[in-house]
Amino acid sequence: MRFPFDWKKITGRFGTLSEYRKANGMQAHSGVDWAMPEKTPIPAIAQGTIVLQQFSKVLGNVSVQRVMSKDGKLWYVGYCHLKAEGLEVGTKVQEGDTIGFVGNTGSASTASHLHLTVGAKLKSVFGATSEKIDPIQFIKDNK
Ligand SMILES: [Zn+2]
Repeated sequence: MRFPFDWKKITGRFGTLSEYRKANGMQAHSGVDWAMPEKTPIPAIAQGTIVLQQFSKVLGNVSVQRVMSKDGKLWYVGYCHLKAEGLEVGTKVQEGDTIGFVGNTGSASTASHLHLTVGAKLKSVFGATSEKIDPIQFIKDNK
């Protein structure tokens, strides 16, 4: 597995609860954010299959990729706030293949960025932070 973008571009870590979030009754951050210019190609973090394309009010255009960890377990990786719909469901991609383009879609986005999220269930991509794991740790553990 690989990180999609440079460490230096990370603007939001998993599980953080900022004053802004607290004040607005929001849950802890459910993924990792990379601030990137709009339309930057997003490389797949791993080999896997696109299993869902969905527009969510909050997360905007979301592509979900099913990937396998080193121990043979299946995981669901959500690439959120994409500029437009990503690849067709069923598409098999290799690590590094372009999965979509950075955008600013959805109410939880105020500037162009990638929000990456990882969960053990397909539904957890859209669920609470407690249903997800830290994408940074996940990628590190499966490099
Ligand atoms: Zn985010």
